[in-house]
Amino acid sequence: MKDLFNKRKAVLATMHKKEEVIAPILKTELGIEIIVPLNFNSDKFGTFTNEIERAGNQLEAARKKVEQAMKDLQVTLGVASEGSFGPHPAFPYVSFNRELILLIDQEQGLEVTGYVANGNTNYAQKEVKSFEEAHEFALSIGFPSHGVIVGHDRDFIKGITDVNELKKAVRTKLDGSATTIIETDMRAMYNPTRMKNIELATYDLVKKIKTPCPSCQTPGFEIKEAKKGLVCMSCNFPTDLIKSYLYECKKCSFQEEVHNPNGKQYADPMYCQLCNP
Ligand SMILES: [Zn+2]
Ligand SMILES: [Zn+2]
Repeated sequence: MKDLFNKRKAVLATMHKKEEVIAPILKTELGIEIIVPLNFNSDKFGTFTNEIERAGNQLEAARKKVEQAMKDLQVTLGVASEGSFGPHPAFPYVSFNRELILLIDQEQGLEVTGYVANGNTNYAQKEVKSFEEAHEFALSIGFPSHGVIVGHDRDFIKGITDVNELKKAVRTKLDGSATTIIETDMRAMYNPTRMKNIELATYDLVKKIKTPCPSCQTPGFEIKEAKKGLVCMSCNFPTDLIKSYLYECKKCSFQEEVHNPNGKQYADPMYCQLCNP
């Protein structure tokens, strides 16, 4: 697989230092040389603080960024990552991070995505009335190694990583307002916890690239669909657990279904609607 990418230049569409984790992995695993555009404004494709709304879903936003950067730098290989934050799907009081990384290779007509989703994030926000309250919040989310943002009404002071800066920002925002909002800065260079997830997503991307289609050998033989219906061990009724993964090649559409991906032929009756309603 390495020979398909070895010594090729790929542009990474970022202005938030994501190359620090992405570049060494792609270099070691695939031989790709990452270049970062000097003045790439990824914010115009959307910000976490929503001054600019993201263009489409996570994948579409990443695709727009990477296509723009490839065009700007006249290269045929590009990478972009895109994160999203919100409540955990099962535990609404816990925060959740989904990180996606996309590689596009125009030479081979290839698009492969790496992905990670977990609760390892400090994503949070709080309404505060004083510097003391803001400082307490900041310390609780890992400040100052993790940055914070202060402000409201779409007017923010970002990238705060110093207690004096924080004091000044809170004072400014509380001038003429009873409260303001302090929140975690989710941009990669201000958030080592997020950077770790970008790293995990990059490893997932590499794993997918290294999985070639059994029919045409194109890299990125990926799961297209997860089929539910693993049957109950006790009564044989289909449960909501995964029965099989359907893999499909994006190039030649070759498909392969992998049964019992978790190594189990039956579901525990605790997941069965008949045995454990
Ligand atoms: Zn194929
Ligand atoms: Zn059952």
